[in-house]
Amino acid sequence: MLRERTPIVVLGAGPAGLATALRLARRGAFEVTVIERQGVVGGNAGSFELEGLRVDYGSHRLHASCRPEILADIRAMLGAALLSRPRNGRIRLRGRWVRFPLHPLNLALHLPPAFFLGVLRDAVTKSRQGSARETFGGVLERGLGKTICRDFYFPYAEKIWGLPPSELDAEQARRRVSAGSLSKVLRKVAATVPGLRASNSACFFYPRNGYGQISEAYYRAATEAGVAVRFRETLTGVELADGRVVAVRTCGEDGVSCLPARQVISTIPLPSLVRSVTPPAPPEVLASTEALRYRAMILIYLVMATTRFTEYDAHYFPERDVAITRLSEPKNYGLAEVDGTTVLCAELPCSPQEPVWKASDQELGALVEEALARADLPLHVPLRRVVTRRLEQAYPIYTLDYREHFDRLDDWVKNQEGLLSIGRQGLFAHDNTHHTLAMAYGASDCLDPAGKLDRERWAVYRRDFEEFVVED
Ligand SMILES: Cc1cc2nc3c(=O)[nH]c(=O)nc-3n(C[C@H](O)[C@H](O)[C@H](O)COP(=O)(O)OP(=O)(O)OC[C@H]3O[C@@H](n4cnc5c(N)ncnc54)[C@H](O)[C@@H]3O)c2cc1C
Repeated sequence: MLRERTPIVVLGAGPAGLATALRLARRGAFEVTVIERQGVVGGNAGSFELEGLRVDYGSHRLHASCRPEILADIRAMLGAALLSRPRNGRIRLRGRWVRFPLHPLNLALHLPPAFFLGVLRDAVTKSRQGSARETFGGVLERGLGKTICRDFYFPYAEKIWGLPPSELDAEQARRRVSAGSLSKVLRKVAATVPGLRASNSACFFYPRNGYGQISEAYYRAATEAGVAVRFRETLTGVELADGRVVAVRTCGEDGVSCLPARQVISTIPLPSLVRSVTPPAPPEVLASTEALRYRAMILIYLVMATTRFTEYDAHYFPERDVAITRLSEPKNYGLAEVDGTTVLCAELPCSPQEPVWKASDQELGALVEEALARADLPLHVPLRRVVTRRLEQAYPIYTLDYREHFDRLDDWVKNQEGLLSIGRQGLFAHDNTHHTLAMAYGASDCLDPAGKLDRERWAVYRRDFEEFVVED
């Protein structure tokens, strides 16, 4: 007799949703459906084609610190298409270019002298008092000193999150800055010297056909394992009966649908998930959905009539008068061989409430051109075309009260039987793809064949996730 499989609905077809779906489907006990509002997989970690080149949503790399089990799966799916590449970036610091990752010889030759003397003075005098309240600014100033904060981290943070460092929670420093003290900075510099190399952070992995190839590989494997992915469908409701999930409602091109579900694993933004549940969450929980804020980003792609713009994969711009935060050249990641054309991708963090969110492609192209001219990186070759993409949820913003609101939503979701929120958007974390995949692997390991979550085991995973520190 055929055993009935437990219906599971996964929300979102980014890396976290697809990896969860694949691992559940391979267990054979579940009937897995993925709901994705876009027409493609990959979420923020996807890729698309532009003038014969595959481009990503900003600079994306698979970091070498990816867990071996996950890396082995990605390798098995991508084979020789997964390239190992040396990092080759530059940071603009007080009008000079410094190699990134930091390198001792390059620092000696290119670090602005006043900056170097300032860091030395901070180290000797230990003049690294932070403010009374623990904030992003206070923690970093204590760990790194005034000079590095003033010339790099503070202006960069303000551009990324849109708030001064004193209005960001201390957790943002712990989770987002891997070199949070001078000794850690020195260790990172030492790690780039052959022979002294303690880690392989000077290299990264990148799929030859764009970062989105990772999600596409999980998608292919998931569909082969029997997962149904429903594209261009948006979640309209998660239905509870007697405190447990029973169904998911969606709206798509073919109208509305109602899917039975024993368990819903959501990778969509936590506030959207909570707002979709019926019967509705209590008013104070719903109020917290309005308080959690994400930073948006406009990606501005400049199609250039030249084979290569620079040899660098990414340029970082902390300076306040340069509007963008980063510029990458996708060709320098995946080694695409297209003559006479390259694409530059500029990252412009912003809020959808700012007028720039509605700016035309031409206006945004001009903005990037001006930013690059200010950074002594003028466009010396003809610009063929400007294309833009917008991410509404690029980065979680850890405001000073975010913890209270996140905990309220997280606790409420935890108490709804059959509802689990994971991934970068679902756990409101700044995490890398390898972190979000670790969440997916953890979540799928914690379901029994009836779709019930082993809560104790999941709590152990959650404590582990708290230790993730983002890599750039
Ligand atoms: C500019 C930038 C650079 C980055 N660089 C790196 C890097 O170098 N290395 C790295 O490891 N990571 C990097 N990241 C992080 C990486 O993009 C994320 O870790 C990854 O995308 C998270 O995957 P996810 O599946 O958790 O979420 P997402 O990718 O956000 O996927 C969520 C999915 O849910 C869908 N969805 C949302 N709402 C609904 C709804 N209501 N109904 C149905 N579907 C919905 C979305 O369309 C999306 O497909 C970067 C991120 C950004 C923004």
